[in-house]
Amino acid sequence: MLDKVIIANRGEIALRVLRACRELGIKTVAVHSTVDANLKHVLLADESVCIGPPPSAKSYLNMPSLIAAAELTDAAAIHPGYGFLSENADFAERVEQSGFVFIGPKAETIRLMGDKVSAIRAMKSYGVPCVPGSGGPLGADGDENLRIAKDIGYPVIIKASGGGGGRGMRVVHNAAALLHSINVTRSEALAAFGNDQVYMEKFLEKPRHIEFQVLADHHGNVIHLGERDCSMQRRHQKVIEEAPAPGITEAQRARMGERVVEACRAVGYRSAGTLEFLYENGEFYFIEMNTRIQVEHPVTELITGIDLVKAQLMIAAGERLPWTQSDIVLRGHALECRINAEDPKTFMPSPGPVRLWHAPGGPGVRVDSHLYSGYSVPPNYDSLIAKLISYGESRDTAIARMRNALAEMVVEGIKTNAGLHQEILAHAAFQQGGLDIHYLERRLGLK
Ligand code: ADP
Repeated sequence: MLDKVIIANRGEIALRVLRACRELGIKTVAVHSTVDANLKHVLLADESVCIGPPPSAKSYLNMPSLIAAAELTDAAAIHPGYGFLSENADFAERVEQSGFVFIGPKAETIRLMGDKVSAIRAMKSYGVPCVPGSGGPLGADGDENLRIAKDIGYPVIIKASGGGGGRGMRVVHNAAALLHSINVTRSEALAAFGNDQVYMEKFLEKPRHIEFQVLADHHGNVIHLGERDCSMQRRHQKVIEEAPAPGITEAQRARMGERVVEACRAVGYRSAGTLEFLYENGEFYFIEMNTRIQVEHPVTELITGIDLVKAQLMIAAGERLPWTQSDIVLRGHALECRINAEDPKTFMPSPGPVRLWHAPGGPGVRVDSHLYSGYSVPPNYDSLIAKLISYGESRDTAIARMRNALAEMVVEGIKTNAGLHQEILAHAAFQQGGLDIHYLERRLGLK
């Protein structure tokens, strides 16, 4: 097993990684910016190193500082969490070249999947269904681009190859708007991701977002852990996730799971990963792969009984997966609500001191959060402050438990979106299940 792990992240996921390390007897090193010295996992870690000032570019994205921290503390491996450097192939490469283990896939796999055009090409070549689209980057020839859009059929969506976090996308409804939209997306992509490559896809009008979780070791063993439904989104950002996806049959799961596993084996995938799909009229369409642990991983953990972060650590240590596909049994239903420090009406971030934090509990309730009373949420980072996760034998029970948990939770001092979650969960359409990705924005009156 690994002896000591650096946790190159902050907030709830850093705490989640710390807990998994503890369980496996691995020593932990927390790295943090100057405003983050009081983060819960920093206080709990065996060692901590300050890696820079508050702006992420100077701390959590600062590769030389992170490698220096690993050297200084004699760590064996680096866990990148999600966000920050977790999908940065150059970082993975530098970590390995400096003699440390990067807890994730190989740098070349991250690179292949990090570019959406190359990821789609690879997945298509291994038999994974993709959204009808340009199949490659768009060139400078306007007539050609108009022809591609006409072939696909409007509406289309222009997407940045290097995009992420729901940014770098633009829907186009007719030919008149196409060329201008391509140009704007291109320049936005260049500014945001340093890469102006864009591609075109059919814009699906009422799809659901369904994703498959995989685990792969260094010995060619690959399994899938079923799917999650993440259709409850605002601005392409997930708000509520659940597993399994309502209405997906055993046969559909087995068929897609098999394809996903085969494709991961073909690209030499290792560690935890997620293949994201849009699902419409009974068909799955691959959109991208995330080569890291995801925010919503707990819902899969609750229905499979498998600890995904511990699995990542075991895989990184070179161990074989202790499960074969037939060992994976999905039981019950799990939901996750992302609790953000934000104004429930305007969605503006609401950082500041937390006067009182009371976490909910009871049967089937899990809370992944770094909050404590007296902690101050800094304005510099993502506003996610807690994940409430509920489990039940049935989806109805999971919903009932989540509604209780939301009602029990107390956060004083800052605003949160707990009320929005209550509203969604109370709605008959949500309780029925299987809503599309535009539902929430339609309901919020944003569409
Ligand atoms: P990101 O890497 O920024 O998360 P994705 O490619 O995963 O980008 O897309 C994020 C979200 O954008 C999807 O969950 C979906 O809501 C929407 N989206 C992406 N592609 C399409 C499409 N072809 N049609 C309709 N919606 C789409």
